[in-house]
Amino acid sequence: MTASESASERLAATRARIAAAEADAGRPTGSVTLIAVSKTFSAEDVRPVIGARQRVFGENRVQEAKAKWPELRAAHPDLEVHLIGPLQSNKAAEAVALFDAIHTIDRDKIAAAVAAEMARQARTLRLFVQVNTGAEPQKAGILPGDAEAFVNRCRDSHGLAIEGLMCIPPFDEAPAPHFALLAKLARNLGLSGLSMGMSGDFEIAIALGATCVRVGSAIFGDRTYAPG
Ligand SMILES: *Cc1c(COP(=O)(O)O)cnc(C)c1O
Repeated sequence: MTASESASERLAATRARIAAAEADAGRPTGSVTLIAVSKTFSAEDVRPVIGARQRVFGENRVQEAKAKWPELRAAHPDLEVHLIGPLQSNKAAEAVALFDAIHTIDRDKIAAAVAAEMARQARTLRLFVQVNTGAEPQKAGILPGDAEAFVNRCRDSHGLAIEGLMCIPPFDEAPAPHFALLAKLARNLGLSGLSMGMSGDFEIAIALGATCVRVGSAIFGDRTYAPG
C-alpha cells in the first residue's frame, strides 16, 4: 500500500484479491461480500469509495455511525451499513434504527434488546453471533462451547433469526484454526453466514468459507487511532 494510491484504487485491488481467492477456493465469483470498514474515516473519505460502487460498509461504534451515515444514506438509498463492533443494550434502539446488520450479538441481554427494538421499530436486521474463538478474556463474543446453546436461545427464547457467526481471531495467532472452528460451529448449527477475515487475512478466511469479509485498512489506509 502506498500513500499515493487512492482509496478507490485500493478498493479495486482488494476486489481483485477477493475474486482470486474465490477462484482458488473453487467458489463462485461474487459469493463473498466485501464489507468496507470505514471506522475512523470521515464521510469525505468514504464518498469516493461509494463512487467506485462499493455499497456495504462496516462501522464499530454507534455514535460514529450516527454522525457519518444518515446523510450519505440519504444520497445513496441502496447503501448497507453493518455494525461490527460491540453493542451496549442502552444503544440497541439507535443501532436498530441505523444499521442493516449487526455482527456482534453475544449475550442474552443484547439479543433481547435487539429483538424488542426490531419489533418496536418494525425493522428486520441481519444478525450474526460473535464467537470468541480464542477465549480471550478481554474480547467480546460467546465462548465456542456456549455458541450452540446461545444460537438456539436466540431463536427459541428471543425469536431472532441468526444468519451466521462472526469472529476476530487473536491478533498474535495464526487465524486459520479460528476460521476453521467458526466454520465448523456454523455448519453444526446449520447457519450459512460466516463473517470472518480482515485486511491481513481475508484470503485465508475465504479459503475457509467466509461469506463476508470485513476489510478496513487495505482500502482506506492506516488508521491514525484504533478505537476499541
Ligand atoms: C476494524 C475492524 C476490521 C477491519 O480491520 P482491518 O485490519 O483494518 O481490515 C474488521 N473487523 C472488525 C470487528 C473491526 O473492528
